[in-house]
Amino acid sequence: MVLIKNISEIKDLVSEWKKEGKTIGLVPTMGYLHEGHESLIKKARKENDKVIVSVFVNPTQFGPNEDLESYPRNIEKDRELCESCGVDVVFNPEPVEMYKNNASTYINVQGLTEGLCGASRPIHFRGVCTVVSKLFNITMADRAYFGEKDAQQLAVVKKMVEDLNFNIDVVGCPIIREKDGLAKSSRNTYLSKEERVAALILNKSLNLALKKLKNGEASGENVINVIKGVIKEEPLAKIDYVEVVDSKTLKPVKKIENSILVAIAVYIGKTRLIDNFTFNRE
Ligand code: AMP
Repeated sequence: MVLIKNISEIKDLVSEWKKEGKTIGLVPTMGYLHEGHESLIKKARKENDKVIVSVFVNPTQFGPNEDLESYPRNIEKDRELCESCGVDVVFNPEPVEMYKNNASTYINVQGLTEGLCGASRPIHFRGVCTVVSKLFNITMADRAYFGEKDAQQLAVVKKMVEDLNFNIDVVGCPIIREKDGLAKSSRNTYLSKEERVAALILNKSLNLALKKLKNGEASGENVINVIKGVIKEEPLAKIDYVEVVDSKTLKPVKKIENSILVAIAVYIGKTRLIDNFTFNRE
């Protein structure tokens, strides 16, 4: 396994691989890797000749008052995890390498990015789409692996690939959780002991909503109220949003008939956590 920091170097390597007819799987990450990332990497390892994991805390997807500076980083540990998973390349560029010469081109996927996380993070998806498309171009990957944990991101990236005719398959991977149900996230390290316990309220509220849906609940508003009711019981939690939306269009759903995404963002203390599930009424 090699760690590459330079765009021209990784481009040379992937063009060699392409000449040899190798398939390439890309796992884009911001590092501080955990079992959630590992599940994406293992799937990529199974399905491709070569696997690239990018580790890049992308400045353009952070708002001015967000946690760009404090975002956890540990490239040595990330490197070890990648090595143990049989990764071929860890691509770990510096921000100046990715955004040279005052780069001024951005990708904006309209329609899917204004609601949910986009409402409180207005430039987030523009930054995600821009860096992801750069990574697609740099790595010439055949497949890219994204977690359903970031359900809106997955939907937005799929739409971008379709709209801009990128030659890549976007593969969604299930949410990996801690034993007690908390979705794994690099940001969980921000939580104090007390907050870590309080954070269970996200999964708890979603489980109750799922139960209601399975018992026939068909009103989006009722599902939202069930979730809000549970979260409000937790004094350390503050709701950013609770939404029931169509899985593809991400537009709010009043009457639940087809495939929906139930998505929430909740502050536990100062840490903003997200979680979700999809439900299909057949
Ligand atoms: P991040 O490093 O947080 O930007 O995440 C990189 C990729 O890993 C994204 O596609 C995430 O959706 C995915 N990911 C993060 N946490 C999890 C998790 N708990 N389960 C599955 N995928 C995850």
